Amino acid sequence: MTNLHYDVVVVGSGPGGLAAAISARQNGAEKVLIIERDIELGGILLQCIHNGFGVEVFKEDLPGPSYAQRFIQQVHDLKIDTLLDSMVLETTPDRRLFITNRKLGIREIKAGALVFAMGCRERTRAQIRLPGSRPAGVYTAGTAQRWVNVEGYMPGKRFVILGSGDIGMIMARRLTFEGAKVERVLEIMPYLSGLTRNYVQCLQDFDIPLQLNHTVKRIIGNNRVEAIEAAAVDEQRRIIPGSEEIIPCDTLLLSVGLIPENELSRQAGVRIDPVTAGAFVDSRFHTSVPGIFSAGNVVHVYDLVDWVTQAGLAAGKGAALFAQGKLAVSDKVVRTQAGENVRYIVPHTFDPNLLAEEAIPLQMRVKQPIEAPVWVEAVCNGKSVTRKALPYARPGEMVTLNLKPDVVDSFRESGTLTVNITER
Ligand SMILES: Cc1cc2nc3c(=O)[nH]c(=O)nc-3n(C[C@H](O)[C@H](O)[C@H](O)COP(=O)(O)OP(=O)(O)OC[C@H]3O[C@@H](n4cnc5c(N)ncnc54)[C@H](O)[C@@H]3O)c2cc1C
Repeated sequence: MTNLHYDVVVVGSGPGGLAAAISARQNGAEKVLIIERDIELGGILLQCIHNGFGVEVFKEDLPGPSYAQRFIQQVHDLKIDTLLDSMVLETTPDRRLFITNRKLGIREIKAGALVFAMGCRERTRAQIRLPGSRPAGVYTAGTAQRWVNVEGYMPGKRFVILGSGDIGMIMARRLTFEGAKVERVLEIMPYLSGLTRNYVQCLQDFDIPLQLNHTVKRIIGNNRVEAIEAAAVDEQRRIIPGSEEIIPCDTLLLSVGLIPENELSRQAGVRIDPVTAGAFVDSRFHTSVPGIFSAGNVVHVYDLVDWVTQAGLAAGKGAALFAQGKLAVSDKVVRTQAGENVRYIVPHTFDPNLLAEEAIPLQMRVKQPIEAPVWVEAVCNGKSVTRKALPYARPGEMVTLNLKPDVVDSFRESGTLTVNITER
């Protein structure tokens, strides 16, 4: 590797990073580099061999690796440089990166603009403080996914899954295909945390029971998991005495949430939103540090990979414009604010001048499910700006409200836009 200065450097080659790199190149950045710690491009998609990807972007229902391959091919066609098997160890606010790999040792790379696309990691047993002995056989659902789909290794024969996240439900089906018995899925909340489509296609279709308001009280086993003690919980998520039940199993999978990987962002001084655990961003996914952009699950956990791709395209365009000194800086800014029953909104701000040129998607999640028709309504200065109707709102399913250029007159000045999601 001779080139140590790039117009745009992208960290991570999942769908967010691939889209950002492609978009940066297509928007005028000449020298673009993707740095990936794994030995191939594609990120988590490579272990997602089930279908369901690309319905929005390609209007096709593709398996994860096929979806990734379409972007990997474009990366090669556009002659974007890649550094695989290479870990970014450190980044600075002035966009210097320190990377390491076996061939180069440690190198410093300077970026005109930087896109963080490191994705997220799974919450582990330690993070949810699961009591009991510490035998083998307790894994995150994503680890099991990698073993079964990539390494060809079955982690057990009889499973209990804690958490109704999408990866856990997808693995319940996958393990059933491979001949395992999935006893049940336990969810501590009174509602599903993943997509309804995954509940129907992965649990219902295979008669795998889901128990809401239930958790694992204790793991039992010395060398290997022998059983778990399940229990019902009350509204405060406290175990209800007398509800305990021993479920024999040899493996417990955890699907209890994802954490955006923002250690590098923090080092670079990027301001992090405590609700999303991702960066504060504007509609181009520009963070609080000039020239540093953030895209994909590292910003907030998406429910569909297609949205990750769209975020990557926007971030890559912003990064290319910044690197060329063409990113317009506006003196006006509209802040988005999570209103009634909204947990968070991304982006956190947008430039009203940009809205005159292009629609701005506001993406959010609700705090509490509403199993009845709802309004998703954006309000500015006490006036309704736009609203849309949905048949229901659930925490596991992201809500998108598109701000279209025809509402730009509502934002001639800086201000705050609040979104509420309420029953119709
Ligand atoms: C374990 C797991 C399993 C999942 N399974 C499914 C599924 O079955 N179906 C589904 O729809 N969605 C699934 N998802 C969600 C899926 O991850 C996202 O929708 C999508 O892949 C996010 O894209 P991304 O580009 O933001 O991140 P990722 O695809 O996670 O890509 C991030 C990339 O950044 C790299 N990286 C991170 N840090 C560094 C560093 N310091 N230096 C260099 N490279 C770095 C990583 O190696 C990775 O390749 C899963 C997520 C996880 C974490």
